[in-house]
Amino acid sequence: MTQWRNWSGLESATPSDVLTPTTPADVVDAVTEAAERGSPVKMVGTGHSFTSISAPEGVMLRPDALAGILDVDRDAMTVTALAGTPLHVLNTELARLGLSLHNMGDIHEQTLAGATSTGTHGTGGLKASLSAQVSGLELVTGDGSVINASATQNPDVFAAARLGLGALGILTQLTFDVEPLGVLLAHEQPMLWDEALERYGEFVAESHHCDMYWFPHTDRMQVKRNYRQDLAPADAEPLSRFRAWLDDDFLANTAFGAINAIGNRVPSLVPRFNEMSGRLLSERSYSDIPYKVFTSPRRVVFREMEYAVPREVGLAALREVRRLIEASDWRISFPVEIRMTPADDLTLGTSTGRESIYLAFHVNQHTDHTAYFRGVEEILTSYDGRPHWGKVHTRTAADLAPTYPRWQEFLDLRDRLDPNRLFANSYLERVLGN
Ligand SMILES: Cc1cc2nc3c(=O)[nH]c(=O)nc-3n(C[C@H](O)[C@H](O)[C@H](O)COP(=O)(O)OP(=O)(O)OC[C@H]3O[C@@H](n4cnc5c(N)ncnc54)[C@H](O)[C@@H]3O)c2cc1C
Repeated sequence: MTQWRNWSGLESATPSDVLTPTTPADVVDAVTEAAERGSPVKMVGTGHSFTSISAPEGVMLRPDALAGILDVDRDAMTVTALAGTPLHVLNTELARLGLSLHNMGDIHEQTLAGATSTGTHGTGGLKASLSAQVSGLELVTGDGSVINASATQNPDVFAAARLGLGALGILTQLTFDVEPLGVLLAHEQPMLWDEALERYGEFVAESHHCDMYWFPHTDRMQVKRNYRQDLAPADAEPLSRFRAWLDDDFLANTAFGAINAIGNRVPSLVPRFNEMSGRLLSERSYSDIPYKVFTSPRRVVFREMEYAVPREVGLAALREVRRLIEASDWRISFPVEIRMTPADDLTLGTSTGRESIYLAFHVNQHTDHTAYFRGVEEILTSYDGRPHWGKVHTRTAADLAPTYPRWQEFLDLRDRLDPNRLFANSYLERVLGN
């Protein structure tokens, strides 16, 4: 019997059947059949969500064969791809075509539909989430019908299904806005907490993408800023293969994994390790095509919670979290990540209607996260925080509803597109209600 398990290993499920559709028509058949049998059906991505959002509790549709680029429109500057296409495939194929997405998160292993369905985001830019870069989609709904949506065609479906939590139907195709392949200059600089927080507004204003990491139990931060360059990709000055391997693979994964393993056995060493890691970081600059700057390999498996809070209270929330960590006996070996996003117009977007600061908290896969995440979650909820849909949180429909101005609109659309809850699972029941 096939078991579904997510990347972090925190969630698992046993689907009743597993199908691998190769075309949108196969998806329609699978949905129609599941509807006739009264069985739930869910398409999964690569399982990179930390929650059970994609747990298949009936028929599981695998994304693997629903992959590939369908169309490139250089006049409209859009690319259309099948929904199960991995993001890294899209990125490399776009680069080959001299094109690029505008922004993305830290990794690119996820499927297009999986990443957009939870609002996967990067930092800064004009649009930070992948969902906000979608300009068209095709969706198979609960009665097996196919809806195409864009800003002008079925705009209510478009607003919601770009970040649909897998609750509105099965996406078969997605169209993304793209731009000419450019070059990003990356500048990374160690800094002390006070200076980094004091100058944060300045960093966000003068760079295009700003990302900061704080090493808990220390005063040390790493500030990363990216700047869009007016350069051809051939003129980029990437890291040497050795430096890229040393910094982004060996130090960030192999050495960090070993330090984590020791920290798990002897937690009292964690503050010293964090201080050492913070001190070892050096200033560096390089330039490269965007996806090579935005994404890097993550081989140390972890659990993560991330909240979006209104930008104006983001740093106050972070300061309060630091006070909580310092007053606790927790030993946190992973840095806290701080990102910024512009407001977007997605019905259930974590940045909908407001500029946001995202605060992300991680622990090693073998560390119990519950007390740390619960304590931090209480603080971030008090700042009107919205949890990332794909990362660990304990919120429910009743307490999420007040923080989303268009909550009811999403529920009404769900009633229309999936009245029999064919696409439901326990996670969706918790966060959206029945
Ligand atoms: C190491 C790591 C790094 C990460 N970095 C970031 C980051 O920088 N920024 C960020 O925001 N997030 C990040 N995430 C979170 C991750 O991007 C999201 O959780 C994303 O949803 C995972 O995509 P997936 O393909 O694995 O989808 P899954 O987790 O498998 O599924 C997510 C949702 O998509 C739905 N879905 C999948 N396919 C379809 C379809 N065809 N139609 C409709 N619904 C569908 C599923 O049913 C489910 O509801 C990271 C996660 C990990 C593990």
